[in-house]
Amino acid sequence: ADKQKVNLREGIQSTLTILQHKLKIKNIEVKLDIPTDLPQININIGEMNQVWTNLIDNAIDAMEDRGKLQIEAFQDRNFIITKIIDNGVGIPEDIMGMIFDPFFTTKPVGKGTGLGLEIALSIVKQHNGKIKVSSKPGQTEFNVCLPID
Ligand code: ADP
Ligand code: MG
Repeated sequence: ADKQKVNLREGIQSTLTILQHKLKIKNIEVKLDIPTDLPQININIGEMNQVWTNLIDNAIDAMEDRGKLQIEAFQDRNFIITKIIDNGVGIPEDIMGMIFDPFFTTKPVGKGTGLGLEIALSIVKQHNGKIKVSSKPGQTEFNVCLPID
């Protein structure tokens, strides 16, 4: 897939613009903590936009009205780590092992396809990156780790 050098902050800001209606309906407070001077990353912007959309969309679904969404990014050696943190319901331990499976969803019929995380993971893998997740009731954190190259 064709990749280009992208400023992560700008990329995520455009994702947030796409999701602004849904964020507004739920009165979600967004805290964006991404330095403007992070090294650029070589990505397929359309595909990575899909990853950020899927993760943020899940975060919004997990939160009550007036939830808090925190997005931060920083450099760690040869990688850029992006954290997407919500203060929603959390992911129960017993389903943690299944959330990336195709068609796994806990959402009502018509609300979820169960494909969002499986698509996100496959795109991130194509970028030689990783997704990590940690969760407890009241907080879920998805970490997307992408190489700087
Ligand atoms: P879908 O959103 O269509 O259900 P996904 O693959 O995007 O499918 O997510 C699979 C499941 O993982 C969701 O149904 C939900 O149970 C869980 N999940 C994903 N992200 C979160 C989150 N931020 N907080 C709580 N649960 C989550
Ligand atoms: Mg989803």
